Amino acid sequence: MKAVVLTAPHRLTVADDLPEPVPGPGEVVVALEGLGVCGSDLSVHEGHRAVPAVPWVMGHEAFGRVVSTGSAVPAQIVGRRVVVEPNFACLECADCRRGLTSACPYRAIVGMNAPGLLAERFTVPAPFAHVVPEELDVRDLAAFEPYVVARTAVKRSGISKGERALVLGAGAQGLLLSQSLLALGAEPVVVELHPERLARAVALGATAAGDGDGGFLRLYETTGAAPALAAALPRLAPGATLTLVGLDTAPLPLTMDQVVRGLLTIQGSLIYDHPHDFRSALDDITSDRVHPSVALTTRYAFEDAPRAFAEARGQAGKTWIAGPGTG
Ligand SMILES: [Zn+2]
Ligand SMILES: [Zn+2]
Repeated sequence: MKAVVLTAPHRLTVADDLPEPVPGPGEVVVALEGLGVCGSDLSVHEGHRAVPAVPWVMGHEAFGRVVSTGSAVPAQIVGRRVVVEPNFACLECADCRRGLTSACPYRAIVGMNAPGLLAERFTVPAPFAHVVPEELDVRDLAAFEPYVVARTAVKRSGISKGERALVLGAGAQGLLLSQSLLALGAEPVVVELHPERLARAVALGATAAGDGDGGFLRLYETTGAAPALAAALPRLAPGATLTLVGLDTAPLPLTMDQVVRGLLTIQGSLIYDHPHDFRSALDDITSDRVHPSVALTTRYAFEDAPRAFAEARGQAGKTWIAGPGTG
């Protein structure tokens, strides 16, 4: 079986000698139809994020068709198209039991601490393979998982219709977050230095932040760069809520004094919680309210995956890779 594997930093190959996946009792086997490339995959590719073993199967934002099931999974799911929720929480620990599966310490993070999905076929625990209607545009599925991340951050922040929000970054995450805000009837105002990315956000209905724009009570940080956050602080009004989605190991660029005197609320938002965040995000696309495909730019054939990874950082939007045999 074919899979795209990392053998060393920046070195990817399409291997064809991987063992055929065998489903455990509660698992399904999925034939890959497409996969989005995300910043965390690029960190793995570049050697910035260590993986447990090499060769390492890459990727996590996958959709495909169920081809077989384990003994405990009803066979009716065979033949259905599914989108994968690529964080397999244990569903039994204290965090999972209180609904915060994103904090599960035993979580299998696909492509990071568990093998990736950029393979002809792979296994997934059945509860993490969400059946989707046939008529959905597959490009919306290729960008669906990062949309769920963005939408969950918006949901956790508690923003409502009519509110204005400063969004830092218009990469895939910033774009999808703006889309989620727009779907809610909120008004995203975007800070982005890359002109093409900014233009994409504006085309979506967001506003480009002007030099004098301030007084924001909502901020969403998607760049993962502490200096971007530092530069945006003067634009906030007292009592603002800062929702951080981008990851940076640098300390926050603000003092306790600024937080206290500014009456600020700082909130982190990591991925999504199983299963409701994935399910409700699916309603958004089946009801035609959002189209995560807006985040995509370039599609590559499976055999060209090494080139897709090498070129991804240079693209204004998100790269995705088609399943083998789909051209
Ligand atoms: Zn991702
Ligand atoms: Zn858990």
